[in-house]
Amino acid sequence: MTYTNSKLVTYTRLSPNHSGQRTHSIDRITPHCVVGQCSAQGLGEWMAMRSTQASCNYGIDKDGRVGMYVEEKNRSWCSSSSANDHRAVTIECASDTKEPYAFRDNVYQKLITLCVDICKRNGKKKLLWLGDKERTLSYNPKSDEMVLTVHRWFANKACPGEWLMARMGDLASKVTAQLGGRGGMQALELKGLSEAEVVRRVGGLFTADQKRSGILASVSMAQFILESGYGSTDLAREANNCFGMKKVLSSNTWPGSTWDGKSIYTKKTKEDDGTGKLYTEKADFRKYPCIEDSIADHSAYLLGAKNGTRMRYEGLKGCTDYRKAIHIIKDGGYATDTKYVSKLCSIIERWNLSQYDLAENWYRVRKSWEDKDSQIGAFTILANAKDAADANPGYSVFDHSGKKVYTPPVDDDLPDPPFMVKVGTDGTEIYTGPGTNFPKTGLTTGAGIFTIMEIRSGPGPFLGWGRLKSGAGWIALDDVKPI
Ligand SMILES: [Zn+2]
Repeated sequence: MTYTNSKLVTYTRLSPNHSGQRTHSIDRITPHCVVGQCSAQGLGEWMAMRSTQASCNYGIDKDGRVGMYVEEKNRSWCSSSSANDHRAVTIECASDTKEPYAFRDNVYQKLITLCVDICKRNGKKKLLWLGDKERTLSYNPKSDEMVLTVHRWFANKACPGEWLMARMGDLASKVTAQLGGRGGMQALELKGLSEAEVVRRVGGLFTADQKRSGILASVSMAQFILESGYGSTDLAREANNCFGMKKVLSSNTWPGSTWDGKSIYTKKTKEDDGTGKLYTEKADFRKYPCIEDSIADHSAYLLGAKNGTRMRYEGLKGCTDYRKAIHIIKDGGYATDTKYVSKLCSIIERWNLSQYDLAENWYRVRKSWEDKDSQIGAFTILANAKDAADANPGYSVFDHSGKKVYTPPVDDDLPDPPFMVKVGTDGTEIYTGPGTNFPKTGLTTGAGIFTIMEIRSGPGPFLGWGRLKSGAGWIALDDVKPI
């Protein structure tokens, strides 16, 4: 293996802090945050001191200049992991001194360029961000794949900071696009990830200005999390008007609604016949190169959709109350799920997607005031907290002083197992365990009556998972009706 160095380097000061030649070929890149708006020289002087006991292959300074401190052939002392540093090119990037340790845009842009250069010289066609530590460290990259890792996986550190963590997926997709591969983040790449990771990745797609511009970014993002194949509820499966919109949405027009000449794909979709009954049909869907474009088209649809001359979602534009915005969307005929508003509010609140949490008087949803760990949300609007308690059997709403202000009526709780459920004509998918993180068995129940022996919570449905008496596996309880 012949190692080379980047031609983007404009300043070189080789550090004595390294282990000599690496013992593993390069198949990782580990970007770090310096925690300071440093210059290439300043970083070089610091790493030139033996007492520093640290180094990196490259640094990107506050002006976007690239410094080299350890040649690419050598193992730097950067990520608190010998195994990682032997195979990774390490890059320190000038950043703010406080969380989220933001980079200036020129630094981020240079990081993209440098990663492209590193990949090209090392024969890689793709840069991957797998998001999850275990998944990444156990991943065996193909010969043309480079994998991103982060310092926080190897030491109790914030590095590279939440700012870059939110952009790791973006970094990977932009570098891959410049390498000639498929650009953009694909919805499929989010499947099986934790909700926290989905928030981090998709949240990174919104600029600060978009987040401030109104409520649409937070609502769109919550819809995305709910509907992009994350989870196995009817809602997720039926979400064909969002982030995978049909080529034509009957009788709706909006800026960009004409899709002629653009990419499409065909798939089966479930449609409401107008009476709440679902039927399956094949339809053409808009094919986006990446999630960013999909979100942009979706936003254009929500803001501009017209039925004839009437705005379909009248009042949405400029709306700064997300609960109201979601009601407008639902009432415009977007969703028939009676819990649609509470589900989206819960996601927005759980992940603090709203920029409008002005109240300090939080309503907390817990099993008991003492049981802090049971908290599933803190809400500023009582109605939203009540919805969350309603959707989670056994939970109540407490005000800031710990006084119980609401306990849901028990009548729409699921009964104690064993109980019987009815499944409609299309059946429901059977999973090998209680969560969308478990593999599907590939089977569906088909229509009929089934006995549930046990309920467990797990990623996906709000009501949890039920174990089938037949031993075939687990089904999402949102999809069925207890009888
Ligand atoms: Zn670091």
